[in-house]
Amino acid sequence: MDLHFTSAKASLEERAIVDAAAVLRQAQDDTASEKTRRDLVLPVLHAVQDRFGWISPGALNYVGERLRVAPADVYGVATFYASLSTAPRPKRIVHVCDDIACIGGAEALVASLQNSGLTVERSPCLGHCDRPPATLGLDDETSTPTRVYGTELRLLRRAGRIDPESLDAYRAHDGYAALRKAFELGRQRVISEVAASNLLGRGGAAFPTGRKMESVANAPAQPHYLVCNADESEPGTFKDRVLMESDPFAIVEAMTIAGYATGCEKGYIYIRGEYPLVARRTSDAVAIARDAGLLGERIMGTETRFDVEVRRGAGAYICGEETALFNSIEGKRGEPRSKPPFPVQVGLFGKPTLVNNVETLANLPSIVLEGGESYARIGTPQSTGTRLFCLSGAVARPGLYEVPHGTTLGALIDLAGGVAPGRRLQAILLGGAAGTFVAPDARAMPLTFEDARSAGATLGSGVVMLFDDTTDMMAILRRIAAFFRDESCGQCVPCRVGTVRQAEALERRDFGLLGEIGSVMRDASICGLGQTAANAIASAATNLKLW
Ligand code: SF4
Repeated sequence: MDLHFTSAKASLEERAIVDAAAVLRQAQDDTASEKTRRDLVLPVLHAVQDRFGWISPGALNYVGERLRVAPADVYGVATFYASLSTAPRPKRIVHVCDDIACIGGAEALVASLQNSGLTVERSPCLGHCDRPPATLGLDDETSTPTRVYGTELRLLRRAGRIDPESLDAYRAHDGYAALRKAFELGRQRVISEVAASNLLGRGGAAFPTGRKMESVANAPAQPHYLVCNADESEPGTFKDRVLMESDPFAIVEAMTIAGYATGCEKGYIYIRGEYPLVARRTSDAVAIARDAGLLGERIMGTETRFDVEVRRGAGAYICGEETALFNSIEGKRGEPRSKPPFPVQVGLFGKPTLVNNVETLANLPSIVLEGGESYARIGTPQSTGTRLFCLSGAVARPGLYEVPHGTTLGALIDLAGGVAPGRRLQAILLGGAAGTFVAPDARAMPLTFEDARSAGATLGSGVVMLFDDTTDMMAILRRIAAFFRDESCGQCVPCRVGTVRQAEALERRDFGLLGEIGSVMRDASICGLGQTAANAIASAATNLKLW
């Protein structure tokens, strides 16, 4: 497409919004010495979008001028994200999830909201799969909290029990005891304890966290960055949302421990754009912690300096891929980078970066407090600790469950009340849209990384979605295929073309072609999105015998 940039000028009000956002961000940011401030493009575009409901050509030009970034680059970013619009649209839009957990009730809700005069858009998973159909833009601050259950509550021990907006309440329930202990132990010992805990990453890749921390701590290049990946967008997943909504100081404390141990002075938490309550609570927690001397200079009276900046995504699933997320923070289109080099060497702004998922980081305080060896006694030797599972679909008690690794799939389903009386379980989706369907006879499978792997499945981001005998499974597969088609960033051909062809072949029931497309995407795509886009569909053939 040709780009025709105009000489359109921003209105006075648009200029004021851009100026205010740029100045505010620069004041928060002590790295503001570069010539251009490309890294501020997305936050400033957010400010314009939030105020006017769209980004006019004049506003777009002024963002470029103000941040000294070429208009083509600003345009490239503004058109990459689903939540940003470069065409006029109503300021208030209600988003209704029509993804796999919500597909049943979405159409009726869309119709009723439209009848009441609201502008409605259908959306991929909004991360409220326990209360389908989910919406965004109606009552985001007052929605019913997710129910939390478990056999051993560790990560969720404060959820629903303390005021999440009170630092005093957090401190009265062990808050900041771990950071104090980390300072007593020293950086190297903190990393040794994490290594001894055998904590594996909970974002899907299952990489040993201690090894990552060690690599960043020892990387000679400076500065080091910490990134908390809170861009939770995998369909069926809502665990990080609950952690951050119910216990935001725990994530801030965990980030401070990780930053201290690995020599980072700056951390970013990149929060999914569809989580406004999380963004507000986390931003408030960061500000309160800073005021209390728990972030910033001389934390707790030590020589440690560390601060956190909150960034919001803007409706792009691919930004959950760590290198796409770096590009997004840097003010570029959220397209993944080729690896190697890996983030521990060349990450955010080209520097060594520790990037961890929210749930992974949330384990650090208890590892520091109780010691790595003690932590490693929970679960199994290869899959230590507890795990959060998001139960949704045709289950009696949907919600967030915390159980030790090694709990069987059947025990977890029973804990959630099983399927409704009179219904028969047809299929279980593990790990989300990029995960695996398993048949009901997989109930005996222990929920560990190793058992899932040997069963050809994945725990992924902790999704356990149940489908009973009333579900049209082909409709679910078509929705998954449409999801990947829509969310592919388009950078590489196997995924850009493959996800479109996969959706078409599924529609035509051309199952032979589906297998070929899946192999090409798996082998030749740049990043995990393309590599896993055929997984669930392929598993429906092998495990559910749908064709
Ligand atoms: Fe983009 Fe898909 Fe290629 Fe990943 S695999 S870089 S999402 S086109």
